[in-house]
Amino acid sequence: MEDLKGRTALVTGASTGIGAAVAIAYAARGMRVAVHYNSSTAAAEQVVATIQAAGGEAFALQADVRDSAAIRRVVGEAHDRLGAIDVLVNNAGSLVKRLPIADFDDAVFDEVLHINARSVLAFCREVVPLMRAQGRGGSIVNVSSIAARNGGGPGAYLYAGAKGFVSTATRGLAKELAPDKIRVNAVSPGVIQTPFHDRFSTPQLLESFKAAIPLARIGEPDDCVGAFLYLASEQLSGYVTGQILEVNGGQYMP
Ligand code: NDP
Repeated sequence: MEDLKGRTALVTGASTGIGAAVAIAYAARGMRVAVHYNSSTAAAEQVVATIQAAGGEAFALQADVRDSAAIRRVVGEAHDRLGAIDVLVNNAGSLVKRLPIADFDDAVFDEVLHINARSVLAFCREVVPLMRAQGRGGSIVNVSSIAARNGGGPGAYLYAGAKGFVSTATRGLAKELAPDKIRVNAVSPGVIQTPFHDRFSTPQLLESFKAAIPLARIGEPDDCVGAFLYLASEQLSGYVTGQILEVNGGQYMP
């Protein structure tokens, strides 16, 4: 993993949870990191402060990923300040709300799909030309979900569908970008204890998830970090593209 030293990463949704853990882990391996966030300003500043206190280099950039013009701005700012983008982690995402089908609503469909699916393509559209111009390839790591495999928990079919889109688009983009030596993979977390579940899952629902996990515990953001380090590193995963790496304590074995 020595090859990560001096490389650059843009991590979306890095204010809390999995994205924050990934940004901190990348910086700890000597990467310079753009920490994207939307509404959790203090948390994003805390991630940057944690990285800087350990001697690393990071800065925060705000954008709502429902807004593709804001995505363009953030990628431009990240590139200006980092000088290059070697690794893009498309981690920003949200379940938005649990929605029984009888309450299905066009506006929620748009919101869930824009946050979780369209934003991934919008970030790739901006970053890929920069990676091509750099001429040394790159790594795009999308974030899917166990929901893409099992349909998700109660009322999460929209989110599950959006993550299914992410997994499938990952494979398609991997083929398109292979000639440019840009690898595209995804990490697919199982149930990870983050603000995501504070918002959308009751303690009872989390207990029921836990009962189905062979490793017999809910995951922590740091449990996901190894997969992101591996997929960022050309040394470790240079021959790996189009793959979905499941990090779920054995809860689902495809
Ligand atoms: P968190 O809620 O802790 O983090 C979500 C991140 O996404 C935050 O940084 C948040 O920014 C950002 N975000 C949400 N909506 C927007 C938006 N409209 N515009 C820009 N940024 C946005 O959750 P996790 O760490 O759990 O989630 C990270 C990823 O992992 C997501 O893609 C999620 O779907 C996926 N995942 C999570 C699982 C879990 O069990 N936790 C399981 C499977 C997948 P801010 O707070 O600053 O607004």
